[in-house]
This record gives sequence, structure tokens and C-alpha cells, in this order.
Amino acid sequence: MEVITLGTGSPLPDPNRAGPATLIKAEGMHLLFDTGRGVLMRCASAGTGAAFLSAVFLTHLHSDHITDLNDVITSRWVMSPTPNPLRVFGPPGTEKVVRSLLDMLEDDISYRLEHHADLTWQPPVEVVEVTSGHVLAEGGVTITAEPTDHSPVRPTVGYRVEHGGGTVAIAGDTVPCDGLDRLVMGADVYVQTVLRPSLVEQVPMQRFKDTIDYHSSVVEAAETAARAGVGTLVMTHLVPAPFPGTEGEWVAEAAAHFGGEIVLAQDLTSIEVPSS
Ligand SMILES: [Zn+2]
Ligand SMILES: [Zn+2]
Repeated sequence: MEVITLGTGSPLPDPNRAGPATLIKAEGMHLLFDTGRGVLMRCASAGTGAAFLSAVFLTHLHSDHITDLNDVITSRWVMSPTPNPLRVFGPPGTEKVVRSLLDMLEDDISYRLEHHADLTWQPPVEVVEVTSGHVLAEGGVTITAEPTDHSPVRPTVGYRVEHGGGTVAIAGDTVPCDGLDRLVMGADVYVQTVLRPSLVEQVPMQRFKDTIDYHSSVVEAAETAARAGVGTLVMTHLVPAPFPGTEGEWVAEAAAHFGGEIVLAQDLTSIEVPSS
């Protein structure tokens, strides 16, 4: 199993960091977690594309995590020679978001259906809303979900992916909570969106400071990793994006609370997951 951090940015546009998205390749499956800004550009760099995704998993419905879902839906539809349903798993509310996106795309869909004689079907999207427990078992890969805490964004979920004796936990935006602890327990790789309060507090804009109370800080992510006994902590969705040369500060802050391997992700960082 391989984890690739496709996009490690936040809502703030950044020339070097796409929006939040993580890809897992396992047993020929391509599993996409969140669909932030530029996700298909990064998929192209990671050797996949909309038509080849096995499924999409949304952690929550904040705009920065779903902004390019419409691109995934449209590109898969247009690039697939035969009907190729896109499976989208996400928290309750996902069905409504997908229906609204398809409404938004109504004109585009009609143009393409009229123009391409061999394209005779609407974009097929199959939504499954999940809150906890079993999500998917296929091709030797098992995926479960746990509720997380990103209040007032409700509900939110994290995903636990198991294959070949290896385990990856994809947490999404959350503060430490029981669901997160269950999600992460004993994982080989734990991918957590993080924020550094000491930097965010310096921004003279209350709206930015508001984000501190519903994200894991670097220290909290490290504490969760230590409590769960994970092998590798991967920090992504970095708020604010580290100034070049300060990456070591982020890692040192986490290392003070967690003795395992620490990865401060960039776009397209690849992490091999050990299998037993
Ligand atoms: Zn969020
Ligand atoms: Zn976010």
C-alpha cells in the first residue's frame, strides 16, 4: 500500500500546495480521500486520473475539501468509453452536495450529450453516506469509518484502510476525540490535517484565528499519534503553509510529543506502508 499526499494546502491559495486530497494505492485500487483544489492535476502527477479512481471518500463537506469534486465527476464521465459509475462515500449531506453539483452541471451535460453521438448516458454517481463502521471491502482492501469532531461542522468522518497487514488512518479536520483515537489505534500511518496556533494567532484577522478551535494542532496530532502507538505521523493541510526553511520547526514541535517517524507532507510526498 502507498499513501500519496496529493494536496497539502488549506483554503488559502498557495502556488505550491493544492487543496486537501490524499491518494491510497492498494492492490490495483486507487482510493481518493477528499477532492480539494487541483486534485486532478495532482492525480495526473501521481499516475492516475478520474476514470481510474476506485472510489472517492469525503471526510466532510467544507468547501476546501470538495471544491474539485465536480471536476472529478465530469472528467470521469467524459473520459470513460462506457458507463463508469463513480462511487462517493461521505458523511450525511453528501447526497445533497452531489445532487446539487449535477444540477450545476446540467447545461454542460446537455452540451456534451448533444455533441458526442457515442455518449448517451448522464454522469453516473453512486453516493453512500457513512457515519461509522463498515464502508467497503474489496480486492483485499477493507475500509471503515469513525466519527470525528470538527464542530460546528457535523457530521465528519475519518477512514481506516487496511490491506496486507498494513493500516492507514486518514483523519481529515478534527480535534482529538474518542472516534479519532479508535480510528488511529495501532495504525502504521496516520495522516492528520494540522494547524500551528502560535502562527495563526499572529494573523490580525479574527476569522483566521477562529480556525484554531476546530483543528488538531501539531502538538495534538503528535499526542494522538503517541497515544495510538502509530508508526508514522503524516502532517498535511498545513495551516499556515510553512515558510521555506521553517519545516524543521514543525517536525521538532511534533517530535517533542511523539517518538515515531514524522513526515511534514508536501504535495506528492509518497509513504510506503509496511505489509506483514
Ligand atoms: Zn474543515
Ligand atoms: Zn480543511
